[in-house]
Amino acid sequence: MKKILALTMAVAMSLSLAACGGGNNSANSTPAASSNPPAASGSQGGSSADASTPASFTTVESGKLHMSTNAEFPPYEMLDDSGAPIGIDVEVAAAIAQKLGLELVVDDMGFDAALLAVQNGQSDIAMAGITVREDRLAVMDFTDSYATGVQVVIVKEGSDVTMDNLGEKMIGTQLGTTGYIYASDTPENGGYGEDHVIGYETGAVAVQALVKEQVDAVIIDNLPAQEYVKANAAAGLTILEGAWVEENYAIGLQKGNAELLNAVNGALNELKADGTFQGIVDKYITAD
Ligand code: GLN
Repeated sequence: MKKILALTMAVAMSLSLAACGGGNNSANSTPAASSNPPAASGSQGGSSADASTPASFTTVESGKLHMSTNAEFPPYEMLDDSGAPIGIDVEVAAAIAQKLGLELVVDDMGFDAALLAVQNGQSDIAMAGITVREDRLAVMDFTDSYATGVQVVIVKEGSDVTMDNLGEKMIGTQLGTTGYIYASDTPENGGYGEDHVIGYETGAVAVQALVKEQVDAVIIDNLPAQEYVKANAAAGLTILEGAWVEENYAIGLQKGNAELLNAVNGALNELKADGTFQGIVDKYITAD
């Protein structure tokens, strides 16, 4: 079994960098940025703001907070029967937008595209159960973490796959996710090598490959894994005991937009402190 420690240090580092970053490292892209005064109790997270001037931040579109996501990651983001995005990330983003006096707009796309959208200044925040990783910190900023993600292994009931013999099996993952990145890494780095891993467009497609026995296991985040096992009850899927990797989820933003990062982070921490955040989580995660 392989364990990768949470990147708490890295997150703290990105925040302190952002807090003292000044305005010199803003990216080349020039979205149609606009100024939005934050709502009354908005951003207290920032330490860089001049106390004499109210904190201000820019968003891609005036009065809106664009969230890029991949709505195929239940219970964090998925589409309801009418095709509207719902889930923990969507509701948390809506609550953040409300605190900042903005209207949330959810832009649904592929997982990789959702990360690129903030990097390119096409969306303000990316929320998609995104794990904080050093290589992602190099190209985007992250808020404080808001959840622990645990990568688990789904197998067919009665199969001989264990945590210890995954290296001899074929593993399905979602392209671009940490499950794919870690599993396809070399054995020296705790992975199984690219020959043992197939990357699918979505987690759901990876799970279908397991159902059809095209792969022996799927490595994916725990909560979506539970949803997929439930949704495919007839196929007899089960989750191996134990965590394959533990990691932290956070909200991604364009690198160098310290004001927006501080505003979003301040709002997120207020939602955690006043119980709103937990209320949203409890709505989607029921003990059963
Ligand atoms: N947490 C994983 C990652 O960041 C998977 C996220 C997802 O599939 N939406 O790569």
